[in-house]
Amino acid sequence: MNMSASVPSPAPARRAPRLDDYVRIIGPGEVDELRALARRLAGRSVKMVNSTAVGGGVAEILNRLVPLLQEVGVPTRWDVITGGDEFFQITKAFHNALHGGPFQGGPEWFATFLATNEENRRRLEFSEDFIVVHDPQPVALVVERDRTPAHWIWRCHIDLSHPNSEVWEFLRPYVEQYDAALFSSPAFTQGLPIPQYLFFPTIDPLADKNRELDAKFIRSVLERFQIDPQRPILTQVSRFDRLKDPVGVIRAYRMVKKYHDCQLVLAGGAASDDPEGSEVLREVEEAAAGDPDIHVLNLPPWSAREINALQRASTIVIQKSIREGFGLTVTEALWKKKPVVASAVGGIPSQVIHKVTGMLVHSVEGCAYQLRYLLANPDFARQLGRNGHEHVKENFLITRNLRRYLLLFLILLNQR
Ligand code: UDP
Repeated sequence: MNMSASVPSPAPARRAPRLDDYVRIIGPGEVDELRALARRLAGRSVKMVNSTAVGGGVAEILNRLVPLLQEVGVPTRWDVITGGDEFFQITKAFHNALHGGPFQGGPEWFATFLATNEENRRRLEFSEDFIVVHDPQPVALVVERDRTPAHWIWRCHIDLSHPNSEVWEFLRPYVEQYDAALFSSPAFTQGLPIPQYLFFPTIDPLADKNRELDAKFIRSVLERFQIDPQRPILTQVSRFDRLKDPVGVIRAYRMVKKYHDCQLVLAGGAASDDPEGSEVLREVEEAAAGDPDIHVLNLPPWSAREINALQRASTIVIQKSIREGFGLTVTEALWKKKPVVASAVGGIPSQVIHKVTGMLVHSVEGCAYQLRYLLANPDFARQLGRNGHEHVKENFLITRNLRRYLLLFLILLNQR
């Protein structure tokens, strides 16, 4: 196993992309449409609330969505709730349970959860017209709703198709107090008395994570991590989380390795709201021990360009999650025209249309089989990548997300 070389400090900041910069990707018509929709919201403001400023898909989306809302003239503030280690251990247990796992907590966990929400409710101000609360961690802030004139929206990014009933029944009364709930897949919607909307998560094609890179930089990243550019590179980018099944990826790679002299890159990092990360990283390092062609890279949060380079350098991108919200790493790989082998869970089947934009799998063996197939059929693999790029362009770019939010705000305004 090859452990992470040190990553240099953050790259110098570039000018943040402006809406006009997207014209060359989506065309002038769509950009004009965004401005026209935003004009109808003149004078209205938005607050986004979530539980981490870095790490994971939600922070990734908010980092770009907030400046774009600002630019179209909708003042938007992003607040991050605070909490102690115990709170984040509890919300991680909720997260796992909502994804269908068991729940071993007791009533005191619910009490701690509510106490932390209450502290945040007191600390934050809610003076905006639209309050968008992301995921379960801050869900109980909504008890403030009746004291504000705002429209309250719950944006759920996680797979709620088989939630643990104890946790879901605890959260449900809070969710029901919102004006609307947004889900990443039709399969995640619940029997709720409030309107539910389908909101695909999206990526920013101009962010450091996704923009074009020069070949020289990509080569330098491979060199820094001692990855051989001459041999196939299989990559999974994910937080070190058991639900991303990194050890399953290693098992699949070992099956492929018998037939193809390939390398495996497992690139990840920690999110500040995920206390299990270091334990899972240890498990991964143990599983990878003794194989110099497995590169376990524990990257700092400012590694967007490195991740972009690793994805672009990959022969195939894997996302072998056991459960998944949407899987932005899949979107990122498809945008880069990469053939993707990914589990048919969560929002992944909305992105990976089997044999058209990638390959869907249901097991370690299936993953290994599809990896072998794509390594042996590079023309087909390239076609999947091209199709995937078009699919993302049509459905999963940040400008689409901005449009959906603007339309939702207008709908809610008109309803009241
Ligand atoms: N990511 C990252 N560094 C890491 C691991 C992941 O920047 O070490 C990014 C990844 O590129 C993607 C997001 O975090 O943009 C993960 O989103 P996804 O929906 O795939 O999974 P989540 O972490 O939200 O479960």
